[in-house]
Order: sequence, then C-alpha cells, then structure tokens
Amino acid sequence: MRVLLVEDDARIAAAVAVTLEAQGYRVETVADGETAWFQGDVEDYAAVVLDLGLPGMDGLAVLKRWRENGRTMPVLVLSARGTWKERVEGIDAGADDYLPKPFEPAELISRLRAIIRRSAGHARPVIEIGPVSLDPRAMRVTVDGLPKPLSPQEYRLLDYLMLQAGRVVPAAELIEQLYGPDDDRDSNAIEVLIGRLRKKLGVELIETRRGFGYTIAVPVGE
Ligand code: CA
Repeated sequence: MRVLLVEDDARIAAAVAVTLEAQGYRVETVADGETAWFQGDVEDYAAVVLDLGLPGMDGLAVLKRWRENGRTMPVLVLSARGTWKERVEGIDAGADDYLPKPFEPAELISRLRAIIRRSAGHARPVIEIGPVSLDPRAMRVTVDGLPKPLSPQEYRLLDYLMLQAGRVVPAAELIEQLYGPDDDRDSNAIEVLIGRLRKKLGVELIETRRGFGYTIAVPVGE
C-alpha cells in the first residue's frame, strides 16, 4: 500500500519511513505543504501521514484543500502541539485520527492501520475527550490507551454522552436512547448504569447535575 508521508523534520521522516516500510508500506516522503498538496491531489494513496507544522502551506490548509477537492483518503495528523483545540481543528478539517509528538512508531502503525480499515466503512471518526477514546467502528473504548471492556448498554450510554459533550442530557432522554418500548423503563436503571460505567472507566468524565441530568464537560485548553 502506498502511503504519503508529509514531514519536514528529516530525522522524524526517516524514522517513520523505516517503520512503515518494515510493515510493507510503500512510502513517498515530501517535506513541504505545496508539494504535499499537489501529490495528494493527483496521486492515489491508501493513507497520508501529515505533519501540521510545514514550510509553505501548513498541514491544516493542505488537508482542507484536499477535502474541498473531494479527496477522501484517510489522513493521520501529526503534531508537536498536542492541545485539545488543535486535535478538534484537525478532525474538523477532515483528519481521520491525530497523533501527538513524540509518538511510538508502533502506535503510528496501529493508528494508520485503523484509519485505512475504517475508511472502507465510512465510519464516524474516533471521539476523544481527555484520556477517554471511543472508536465507533470497533465499538471500543480506551482510557489512556488501555482497552475498557464495556457492556453494550454501557457502550451506548458513553457513546451518546460523548457525542453530546458539553450539553446536560436529562435521564429521560437517555432512557429514550437506550431502551426499547418493551424494556422496563426505570430512571434508576440509568443511575445504576452510570455508576457501573464510571467505575469501569476509572476517570472522572461523567458529571451528575442533580435534578437536570448528566454531562461530559468539554475540556478547555489542556
Ligand atoms: Ca514540522
């Protein structure tokens, strides 16, 4: 599989290329935004590894132009400035995943494989809030990279709250989302489910707003 690697730091580019080639990818490396944009626009790649800080056109601008031109290849964004805001900007610009520098080559490989796999199914991108990451295609949740096995109901609850992050979701709405008309619809069930989910995640993510509902706060800055 052909991969376009866009990285202006020659040392990182060489290390990533060696890692990818060892996995059987055919790597083409470019070191500036203009060339990257041109290559990605005219050539077909299975995936692109795209650094954001580039001479000439920056990585985000390159990505936006590809997407505006209807280029849909999966893109893994790399950046030294791993802030939450920047990850969102990258995802909004059309990135399929985001890897902050410094990174382990093994992680880059697994993320690249995942975006290539997902691009076939046009799935929603991975949602990441703080240390919690939810992959809708694999239906997998990780906290600080460690997988957390959840029951289907726990997974659906977390998925819904993460999609609604920043909004207080009433328990009644969660019942609507999680239970069918024939299920026993008890608001205590949500409380119990939230309790189990919190315990399994082991991080403070879901807040209770007494009398209003539940919410996942959107982190500011980081
Ligand atoms: Ca750079």
